[in-house]
Amino acid sequence: MKSLLVLFSLAAAPFLQAETPPAPAAAEAAAAPRSRVVLLNPIILADDEGKVQANTCFPKKLVDRCYTKADLEFLYLEPRIWRNGKVLRGEMNIDQVCQEAKKAGVLRGQGEIVNLIFVSTLDGHAQTCGRGKLNGDVCFVCLPKKDKYPDMLEFVIAHEVGHCFGLIHAVDDPLVPDDVPNVQGDGPYAERLGVNGINEHQRDVVLKSPLVQERVKFFSAAAGAKLMQDESWEPYISSLSPGGVRAFLHRQDIPDDPAAATQAARELFPKEVLDFTESEKQMLLAGIASLEKNPASKDWGLMHRCPWHFIKVKDSFCGGFPHTRGPAILYSASALASMKRSALHRDSLLAHEKMHVLERFYPERFRQRFAEPVGFTAVPGLQLPEALLPSYLPNPDAMSTFFSFAEYGRDWVPLTLLAQLKSPVMGRDFIGLAYPVVRSSDGKISLDANAGRSFPAAFPTLMKRLPAARNCNDHPNETAAYYTAEFLSPFKPAIDPKMGPALKSFLE
Ligand SMILES: [Zn+2]
Repeated sequence: MKSLLVLFSLAAAPFLQAETPPAPAAAEAAAAPRSRVVLLNPIILADDEGKVQANTCFPKKLVDRCYTKADLEFLYLEPRIWRNGKVLRGEMNIDQVCQEAKKAGVLRGQGEIVNLIFVSTLDGHAQTCGRGKLNGDVCFVCLPKKDKYPDMLEFVIAHEVGHCFGLIHAVDDPLVPDDVPNVQGDGPYAERLGVNGINEHQRDVVLKSPLVQERVKFFSAAAGAKLMQDESWEPYISSLSPGGVRAFLHRQDIPDDPAAATQAARELFPKEVLDFTESEKQMLLAGIASLEKNPASKDWGLMHRCPWHFIKVKDSFCGGFPHTRGPAILYSASALASMKRSALHRDSLLAHEKMHVLERFYPERFRQRFAEPVGFTAVPGLQLPEALLPSYLPNPDAMSTFFSFAEYGRDWVPLTLLAQLKSPVMGRDFIGLAYPVVRSSDGKISLDANAGRSFPAAFPTLMKRLPAARNCNDHPNETAAYYTAEFLSPFKPAIDPKMGPALKSFLE
């Protein structure tokens, strides 16, 4: 018999101010990684001053248990604060909030990531409640004080994300009995989140959801092409100058007009994607297994747990340099061939690129635990001077924040510039220059475009302190990635003593 289900307004606990959210990556130790993952992008609403925040909860143990039949685990990206008092207080409807969120750039993905939005009032309710968009990628939750009904908080997230997977309430679903506990039904919360929290029919629905992804995934040419246009993580395409687009595509026929060059890149980047061969897939799978077994990586839980997603591109793209894009690693055909020839090189290139994915997933954790302890300082809000824009080539693996280092009594930001803009060649035409940071009285932060010095050659203190800075072109994201790869090598050349603890602290 179907019973009436009370889904929302489950408790009338007063709404309390949030504590600082825990870093979900470091949350409770979980069981062995599962074959499928769902990535969740937590967005925490705050008032306009950032003083009051919505309460949060990042449940893992019980939500994973509930989705056991789908062999699925929940992985949270670093939560981000979104200052918008109106949304926090529930003064906009859900559709308006989605529009605002898009404008504010807080949503991630193209329908393959759950955007989990924590608010303090939802549709007039300030109690535990939620709204998961059926087959959508946005889920709202409103949670009271954490410690009162812990299983209920976990239930709300498992239940609402279930709607995003395409699950409907047991009471409306003829294929789900409503006289046994179910994540879409009734019963004690802990039992609704039991190993039988979904039935076989619901498992089949969940497995069809684009939000549920294989832990190791090889993108087809068509799926990879779509991801090449995704700018929800960073302005990967729109920040390139016409010269930058020419360098990325290794072609000269890109218009001089910046908007036209961006449009050309949007059309041409997706055409650079190829399908993997079976032997390339096997080689990458062997590399992942080898990395997991390497004793040097035993404390690198984040690296092993977060998904491995791969896109294959033509050799002409980005000079054939391996790099990353959202959650995916891009290898060219010749990079894959070189990985096939050397297991050490294969494992190094896997670890290096995976670091870039993790730096993107957990930027604050990276800044606090790696970049600052080894001597880099984040420079948020830095605007590059106009004079440098045409020749500046953003590193696709280091787009989130500029970092400076100190030398000669000033703070310097290293950049990679193109030596010529008509037919630039990746690598060959790179120039490394570092520029001093200039802070003006009106609060603007920029660089002195006339005071560049050769990087890293003109900075002996930095090179002495971080010997690998020699190879690490322009950003602590690269320093960390190079050092991570070096740790896997049996030779371990010139590793700075601060590096091991800093990397372990970020990756554990
Ligand atoms: Zn790199």
